[in-house]
Amino acid sequence: MRNYLSPLAEAREIAPKGFGSFAIAPIPAGTIVATFGGTILNRINFETHPLEQRSRSIQIDADQFVLGPESRESGDSINHSCSPNCRLRNATQLIAMHELSAGEELTYDYATSDASNYDEFECACGSDNCRLRVTGNDWQIPELQIRYQKIFSPYVQRKIKAAQSSRPLTKRDAEELINSFDANPQAALMRALRIATGMPHASWKSLVALTSTDLQHRELLYEGDQSCLDQLVKQLNEQRTI
Ligand SMILES: [Zn+2]
Repeated sequence: MRNYLSPLAEAREIAPKGFGSFAIAPIPAGTIVATFGGTILNRINFETHPLEQRSRSIQIDADQFVLGPESRESGDSINHSCSPNCRLRNATQLIAMHELSAGEELTYDYATSDASNYDEFECACGSDNCRLRVTGNDWQIPELQIRYQKIFSPYVQRKIKAAQSSRPLTKRDAEELINSFDANPQAALMRALRIATGMPHASWKSLVALTSTDLQHRELLYEGDQSCLDQLVKQLNEQRTI
């Protein structure tokens, strides 16, 4: 098994087609209810896998995903709720937020771990807080940033911090980008992208992953394709942001 589910819980099929995990005995607050495991993949490899398998995965960095196993396991059947009773305590471990009663479904809010669009869906959790649609951008909702400020995954916390310190390029930044571009395109773009993303230590690969959702385009940028680099510098110069 690549995932752990507490012996105090079990996964069950929920009609018509779905799965969930339920407490089978009282679960004390703070208990580790699940630990997510799998194969560590970058985004390009991750996106070659079926959507169902990707929905049982967790993103742990801009270009790192823990892909769930090929077939479903107990520990990767934890559903989303907009009023969850469990929360992440690090990138891959889920704990009970308060004491859970036998029969209660274990849930956590996917906004606390997801910042990509690989698992977006209409939500029917039925809670008063329900936002009806769950997306990879929910971590940006100000109300959720307040509600979950201490319990986002480390990756999403870094995203929030980066978003707060990102800024559009100034005229001077854009001039520096243009002036140094010919001598070393990648270094010039890295400097500008680090400012625009608020990620002062991000690698070229991580920065490229933020500039485009088109995998082929990203590959060309990774390889240093001149026309893609020219296009990116033009975009940054005109818009001064990404
Ligand atoms: Zn909901």
